[in-house]
Amino acid sequence: MSAVILKARRLIDGTGGAVVEHPAVVVVDGKVTDVFEGAIPDGAAPAGAEVLAYPEATLLPGLIDAHVHLNLPGDGSDFTAWVQEPDGVLVAASLHNARVALKAGITALRDCGGRGDTTFQVRRALDLGLGAGARLVLCGQPITITGGHCRYFGGEADGVEGVRQKAREMAKLGADYIKVMGTGGGTPGTMSWLPSFRREEIRALADEAHRLGRKIGIHCLCAESIDYAVDAGVDQIEHAGFLVDAAGKQQFDPLVAIQLAHSGAVVCPTMAVGLYVINKMEAKERRTAAEQALLDRWRTMLEENLAQFRGLREAGVRFVAGTDAGWRFTPFDSLPDELMLMHQGGLSAMETIISATSAAAKALGLEAKVGTIRTGMEADIIAVTGDPLAELGALKRVAMVMKAGEVNPWI
Ligand SMILES: [Zn+2]
Repeated sequence: MSAVILKARRLIDGTGGAVVEHPAVVVVDGKVTDVFEGAIPDGAAPAGAEVLAYPEATLLPGLIDAHVHLNLPGDGSDFTAWVQEPDGVLVAASLHNARVALKAGITALRDCGGRGDTTFQVRRALDLGLGAGARLVLCGQPITITGGHCRYFGGEADGVEGVRQKAREMAKLGADYIKVMGTGGGTPGTMSWLPSFRREEIRALADEAHRLGRKIGIHCLCAESIDYAVDAGVDQIEHAGFLVDAAGKQQFDPLVAIQLAHSGAVVCPTMAVGLYVINKMEAKERRTAAEQALLDRWRTMLEENLAQFRGLREAGVRFVAGTDAGWRFTPFDSLPDELMLMHQGGLSAMETIISATSAAAKALGLEAKVGTIRTGMEADIIAVTGDPLAELGALKRVAMVMKAGEVNPWI
């Protein structure tokens, strides 16, 4: 038996419940067996337990990033060039990224699409103990129309029967959920402002995913694609953009927002992508007129995304936190920045933490294992210096990461 007692200044359990002052969390063989406020009652501490004390820190559930691309480097590399790399490079990049996330206190990742079966190879390697990384929830290849967004990953399929077969192929490879590109995106030549699949194809995909006992998430950058997804009964919408033309103009649709809220599907807004592009461009001392125009456009888009986030929130939409790490300049430790943007968009600090813990765990289908610190849960717990409810930036000051009861597992 291995037993650890974690002590800290306070604990946020991920459920949205009251903060526990001066907590003691008992972890035995990788699972939480007790959570005490104040002193541990006589006889309640397991014999020989190791005590780890973080007197200035807050304990939280390990964070969950519900939208990443493990295959991609997040360093601004050209997407179409990068995806020409051989499988071995994509697997190595993915292992590296899963480790970067873990060190940042992100103990679970939902991958939103990689090439071939590379993401399954990564999970297998981690399961064999080859390195350390966050828990992985995988979709394999994102299903996309012929010529569609992220087609290089191998997920092209068309027609009602074609998309059903592709969903079954992903399930056969080991997909935990089905991911679909409902519009174009950052892949050159695709159209972000128009639905890609037809309404009946999206319906078939949602039906097939659910028949296979899996959730389905749809990448949607225009209102009509959100309407298709909601109509089909999907579980999650990625990005939830409202583009109306090729120039990047957006037009929020309050009716679609209300339908989305009523459907119960969660939205993963991925606003950090724009923030990191802006930071990168602002760091350049001199910009050409074209670069300045591009920077201005990204700034406008981020403002619009925040306004749309507020609109969705007012309509009653629920959110899970995700960054799109790997894409453009978005690194695998960027989740706290996403939470700060969601806070800027009107969520309380506690609500942002829920979006990256219990709500995200539910979206990943992991709510019985992780996402909250309660008796019986697997011990994915982090300690951060300071109080994230007073200052979300504290989430960047990670003092300890525990995954399945193991402390700082990358060492
Ligand atoms: Zn993505």
